[in-house]
Amino acid sequence: MTTTEIKHTQPNQAETNQQPRTVEVAVPLPLDTTFHYRVPEPLASRIQPGVRVFVPFGRRKVTAYVLRFSRPPEGQQLKDLLDVLDPEPLWTDAELTFFQWIADYYLHPLGEVLKTALPSGINLQSRSSADGEAVSGGKKIRHERIFSALSADAPAKLRGKGLDILAFLRQSGPVSSAELKTRFGECSPNLRRLVELGLVQTSDREVYRDPFAGLIVAKDSPKSLTLHQQQALTTILAAVDNKQFAPFLLHGITGSGKTEVYLQGIAHTLAAGNNALVLVPEISLTPQLVQRFRARFSDGIAVLHSALSDGERYDEWRRIRRGEVRIVIGARSAIFAPLERIGIIVVDEEHEASFKQSDGLRYNARDLALVRGQQEQATVLLGSATPLITTRFAAQQGKLGYLSLPERVANRPLPATSIINTRMTAESPLSPQLIEALSENLERGEQSLLFLNRRGFASWLVCPSCGADLQCPNCSVSLTYHRQRRKSLCHYCDYQVPAPCICPACGELELKEMGVGTERIEHELLERFPDARIARMDSDTTGGKGGHARILDKVGRGEVDILVGTQMIAKGHDFPGVTLVGVLQAEGSLYLPDFRATERTFQVLSQVIGRAGRGELAGRVLLQAMTPDHYGIAYAADHDFERFYQEELLFRQELNYPPYGFLAAIKLSATSEKSLTTAAEQSAAVLRAIKSRLGLRVEILGPAPAPLYRLRGRFRQQILLKDASRAALRRLLTAYRREQSLPATVRAAIDIDPVDLL
Ligand code: ADP
Ligand code: ZN
Repeated sequence: MTTTEIKHTQPNQAETNQQPRTVEVAVPLPLDTTFHYRVPEPLASRIQPGVRVFVPFGRRKVTAYVLRFSRPPEGQQLKDLLDVLDPEPLWTDAELTFFQWIADYYLHPLGEVLKTALPSGINLQSRSSADGEAVSGGKKIRHERIFSALSADAPAKLRGKGLDILAFLRQSGPVSSAELKTRFGECSPNLRRLVELGLVQTSDREVYRDPFAGLIVAKDSPKSLTLHQQQALTTILAAVDNKQFAPFLLHGITGSGKTEVYLQGIAHTLAAGNNALVLVPEISLTPQLVQRFRARFSDGIAVLHSALSDGERYDEWRRIRRGEVRIVIGARSAIFAPLERIGIIVVDEEHEASFKQSDGLRYNARDLALVRGQQEQATVLLGSATPLITTRFAAQQGKLGYLSLPERVANRPLPATSIINTRMTAESPLSPQLIEALSENLERGEQSLLFLNRRGFASWLVCPSCGADLQCPNCSVSLTYHRQRRKSLCHYCDYQVPAPCICPACGELELKEMGVGTERIEHELLERFPDARIARMDSDTTGGKGGHARILDKVGRGEVDILVGTQMIAKGHDFPGVTLVGVLQAEGSLYLPDFRATERTFQVLSQVIGRAGRGELAGRVLLQAMTPDHYGIAYAADHDFERFYQEELLFRQELNYPPYGFLAAIKLSATSEKSLTTAAEQSAAVLRAIKSRLGLRVEILGPAPAPLYRLRGRFRQQILLKDASRAALRRLLTAYRREQSLPATVRAAIDIDPVDLL
């Protein structure tokens, strides 16, 4: 540890004169218990809580995590641990407490929580150690050679390049070989000679791979704030100074300058000597966002996102662990970042479903931000233009402070929005009004965005003779026709068949294209506006590292007239040149069988609408919908969050959905439909028996087939549990975990506060 000293339960001396020391460890296996091992004398000086160790486990040897020193449990024969894998602890005591909380809350084995919390680069090491030989750290750490001058006198025979290098080193202090090469050209023989003469010494230094190396950033300084920004900031700064847990909802409409408030809140926190953790949805973790932070804070920023290589991720993790970082920006897993002295945690776009992990440890980083913030006595800002109903409700109840930015900066108006009813005119996906608005914008040289939350060309292919449609054999969904790729494919498992193809049922030669995707819209636009520069942004066009950024950059430079895209275009960027936003099929996601479908529709529409008119020029929005009066659409068009919130609350209350009840789901899947059904019914029976035995009132719904009944070849059933008390759900599930016994072919997962119910 360089700048930060990790404090742990009294090391070494205290217990040395007692019996052999023992430690309690967690193993990354689906087991709820922890285990004790004896520390053999030669390893005693290297063992501390928070390091990984290599232990015999049954007939295997596994990597385990040391939680604490322990008293040897009575009458138990303990085995010796085999090796200590880390020279320094991976976690502080505070972090171990946080992970223990997570294990308890999500009913997930602690060892697996710890494994999830580690960067994947480090887990690679554990894998190789599990093969037999223990490795003690450092496998993926990259080193560079450093040269520094010693004070010995240079012999007279030294001249030329060697002498130049020596003079340079004497002046500069330690320098890497790479830098010497750029300065002096190939100079390895000279350096070797200097070392032989005892004039220069070498050492190795760890190097970090920097994912944003080469990003050149102009400095910027804090903006003078609007009145509302200033009010919000004043409250935040007082909370930061107070150094106690203080959670807030920062409810700011699109373009109201939330990010500026974060930046100034963070600047204040750093000045007070504390650090900042910033969580954003993966999709908005763009170079543009990182640049805004770099421009303000230059150094000491670590960025964690999914496009990092394992090596890069591990490097960022180590920089943070060593206290070389003041600000961590990352997607959901950054909640596990080993950052100490956290003074402020920001969760931007707090309503985003992507903060919830959907497999393994099903944690929600947005919720955990509050937990970690409480443990660290930090200020927590949950920012959004469209907060979750549950978040807004918590603010109404006073559980969160409420900070509001109701206006855009610089008095920019919200865009005027008109709804076009397409119920009767479903002929072309682009209404005449929208086409006219697009051509006006083209004539004026202004940019337009078109949003359609469906990729591909046609949503499905149907046989005009027998009515069969082309289904994925692994998932219960239709294949989507992608014209450019000449394929029909499944958006869940990527199953593909060449297209066009004949009807698999009756052999008919021409299948009819039904439904519309972004690719088809792009195609229509190209036919209608042959001179326009049109780009498309969806997961088909943004593959590979930086694909997303490339398109955004082009739009930012004004090289695109019309950008068509899925919800990728709705988030995390600010295009001052966009003055027209068109929304196609606004009702698209309204009728999914999920109680949050309306909330999600409202959120995504508000975000898309908010892309218009963020610059000097006013914006307008044309919204095509078959159900223009639905409250999820109408209130989004009116920019009226509060009315939407009130109406949605009534619906939630009626059915005891959050915030009036808490949810947990048991998700079961298997490749055999029959064994799944049996297991699901047996699980529900166990739950009902426990419920009556414990006298609980928990609503047990199901088992029912999941709306996506088959996914990647597995059938799926779920049981939904609902109650006004978390404690009741917990008691039920704890007993269920003990008492259920399922065949090995059935997978069952407990999902606390489930977000994905499809
Ligand atoms: P939000 O995150 O709320 O959508 P942003 O923070 O992205 O809004 O701000 C929108 C735009 O307004 C950005 O270009 C930002 O630089 C600018 N901005 C923010 N606050 C101010 C301010 N006080 N004065 C001038 N410009 C500002
Ligand atoms: Zn599929």
